[in-house]
Parts: sequence; C-alpha cells; structure tokens
Amino acid sequence: MIAWIPDLFYLNRRFEGGVALVCDEAGTIARVAPVEELRDEKKINLPRRAILPGMVNAHSHVFQRVIRGKTEHRTSQRDSFWSWREMMYSAATRLKPEDIYDVSRMAFLEMALSGITAVGEFHYLHHAPDGKPYDDPNLLAKEVIRAAGDMGLRIALLRVAYARSGFETEANPKQFRFIEADSEIYLRNLETLAKSVRSPTVREGKLTNQALADARASDTVWIGIAPHSIRAVPLPYSKEVVAYADEHDLKVHMHVAEQPAEVSACIEEHGRTPVALLVTEGLLSERFTAVHAIHVTPKAIPSFARTGAMVCACPTTERNLGDGVVPAEEYLKNGVAICLGTDSHTQIDLLEDARELEYHLRLQKLERAVLDHQSQVSSLKSQALASLLFDCATVNGARSIGAPSGSLEAGKPADFFTLDLDDPSVAGASTDDLLPAIVFSSSRAAMREVVVSGKPIVSEGQHLIQEEVVERFTELQKRLWS
Ligand SMILES: [Zn+2]
Repeated sequence: MIAWIPDLFYLNRRFEGGVALVCDEAGTIARVAPVEELRDEKKINLPRRAILPGMVNAHSHVFQRVIRGKTEHRTSQRDSFWSWREMMYSAATRLKPEDIYDVSRMAFLEMALSGITAVGEFHYLHHAPDGKPYDDPNLLAKEVIRAAGDMGLRIALLRVAYARSGFETEANPKQFRFIEADSEIYLRNLETLAKSVRSPTVREGKLTNQALADARASDTVWIGIAPHSIRAVPLPYSKEVVAYADEHDLKVHMHVAEQPAEVSACIEEHGRTPVALLVTEGLLSERFTAVHAIHVTPKAIPSFARTGAMVCACPTTERNLGDGVVPAEEYLKNGVAICLGTDSHTQIDLLEDARELEYHLRLQKLERAVLDHQSQVSSLKSQALASLLFDCATVNGARSIGAPSGSLEAGKPADFFTLDLDDPSVAGASTDDLLPAIVFSSSRAAMREVVVSGKPIVSEGQHLIQEEVVERFTELQKRLWS
C-alpha cells in the first residue's frame, strides 16, 4: 500500500489537512484516511501541495493542435467558424498516420500538464486523404489510442459517424477522410475497434496478470458512439447508431447547435430545431452528451432536461470561433449537468474552460457570480460556485465519457493532480478560499504532479517524456507548414 500525504486534500468539496490517499499496487484507492491512522504503508510526503481529483476533458479533436496560432487573422470580409473550418480541413487532409500519433501525443502532453487524466476524443479522421479506407479501417483511431497510452491518459475513443457535407449539399473532397457512407459500415468498423481495445494486447508488455489486463484495458481505453452532427448524418443513420449504443450501453456524443446556420439547416430539412428533433426522435438519454448546445431556445431546455442528457461546453474554443455563449444558467436551472471540453485546443487548460463558463455569462448579463445561485452542491457558501465549476471539470466529465475517475474515493482509480500552494497564482489563499483561487486564478504552472492509476505521469511539472514529444511535434509542424 502507498500513502500520498499532502498538506491539503480536496474531500467532500472542501480542503482538509491531515488526510492521506491510500492506494494499492494496482493504483486503486483503498481508502482516504487520517494521517494518524496510517500503519506500514509506503509514505510519499507532499509538503506545500494540495491533492485534487484528476480532471476529465469530455471533448477533444487532438489533430487540431497543429493549426494553433495559424488562424488568428482575417481571411475574408467576415471571418467566422466556417472560414476557420477551411484552414482546419487543410491540415486534416495532410496528416499521415505517424503524424496523427505525434500531434496526439502533443495534445495529450498538454492535457497531462494541466491536470487532465482522462479524455473523450471525438475522432473523425478515419481514411487516407483520398477517402480510401486503410487496410485497417481503424488505423488512425489506434494511433490516437496508442498516443494516449504512451502519455498515460485514459481515453474514451468516441468514434465518429459522418456521412455527408450537409442537407442537399455537394460533397466536399476535404471531408472524404471522415466519411463512412452508411451505418452498416460504421458499426462494423466500430465493433472491430471495440474488440481490439478489449484485447489485453493494447497493454502489451505493461501487465502480466491476464485478469488484471482485461479489467485495466477496459478501464484505460473504451469506445463510444458519436454521430458527428445533424448536418453530417442523415436521421435514419443517426437513429441506427444510437440504437446500437442503447443496446450496448455505450456513451453517445454529438455536436448540437454550435452555429445558427446548423439550426436553420435542421429546420429546413426536418421542420424542427435540433433539440426538438433529438427529443421527438428519441435520441436523447442519460448516456447522451450534446456538445456546445448553444443556439437553443429557453423553451427547448426543459424537454431536453427530462431525458437526462448532458451538455458539454467548450468555452475557450467557443470564444475563439465566435460560436456564442452556452446558456449555462438555463441548463442548470432545469437540472441539466454540464461538462467541459478543450475541443479545438486553441488553449488546453480545463480550469480556463470552467471559469469561462461563468465569465461569458457575466459579460452577457453585466452581473457577477451568475451561476452561484444554481449551485446545489453542499459546500461552504463562498466556495459553492467554484465547487460547481470544478464538478463540471471532474465528476460531470467522468459521467459524460464513462471514465472510472473524477473523484477520490475508495474503489476508484488513484487519478489526481497536485497543486503547489506557494505558486504565485494561488499563494496566500486560506483553506476556505483555496478552491475559488484555483478555479478562477491558478496558472497551469502551479500543477506539479499528475498521477493516473497510482503512477506519476507528470513529476515536478514535467511529463516523463516531454522533451521527445515536443521535439517530434516541432519537426511535424515544420514539415506541415513550410
Ligand atoms: Zn468538436
């Protein structure tokens, strides 16, 4: 048994001192115990550190990390999401399988350095650039999974179904890599991928015990279903893949109402708004996460709430792309849980997404602490808003993608990060205002250790293979853009 002993431990939504996290050799939490009750555990002291549960990034497109910094200028009279997308496609059409591995590692590196221990990867690059499937139709998905394994992160590979450019829209050659024409092809490839990740060979060389390998493989890598959007997938196709998810108890993620143009196209094709369509066609459930869900009417939200579906907000991307503001107050008022994603990776810092969820509403409403009165979490009043936002980055993300982590309690994996209490961005905070200081003000540099299944992947603020990952990525960027 190993006991991690920090100065402060985030427990039951407040910080406490004198508490240790005890985990077994396999990295499962045995108990959270007062330090004086420790016996012969191997003790790891963490002076001037706080321990918090590892964060869960519920929406990511790792390959988009290659266009960071390349789209921050006007390319037409009115730059928008749609002109940004052209640039993103120009990268998407050029990446080779080994490039996908390198860019994935880079994005996962940044996630690890910012305290993220599990990710939902919304993966839609399937084929060679000309649209022909590789010999292994899951080659690129496997490169992403391999990268996550090598960086030490848990991953839900949310395999994307993508059929068309849009309703009555000409095919766009830049989307050929994404397309699987019908649900039969999609589900066949999905099943093959699911079988391969259940196989312990994914963890080859790292585990010897077969039973453990089986359990760990499904805990470390698992598969979800992701019809890309109402625009990109015809309704019958979406219904078939969601029915498969229902039958196999898989998570379902879908882009919903990110842009007003999607809403008008949906009304034109189906005579209903996206949310109305999803509700009336029975696609929503407590396993469903609607990514963005920005352009929705207040009237639609209660019907959405009744299904138990969640919303994934991606505020750092949404502000970058000029998407709009997630009506988080309305969702929370109606009991819809919100998780967070770093999406386009213009920035990878889930606490920034957490604070922006609130800040965007402040700018819109000219008020402060907008979401505070929506907080139902039991914690100190001065911490309630920060706890609510931190829940979005942890337990809600875990529920959305089906990660076993998100909180630190017996039986769960020891996935956590430590934060330096003397970092200038949080120095001087009292125990009671530490969480608001972390959520609203901490810098990523304050993150010191990141541990997944009891194993450190980041130590003293450095990932164990950071240098090599950065070097390979720098070479890739040179090759791609010069
Ligand atoms: Zn997305």
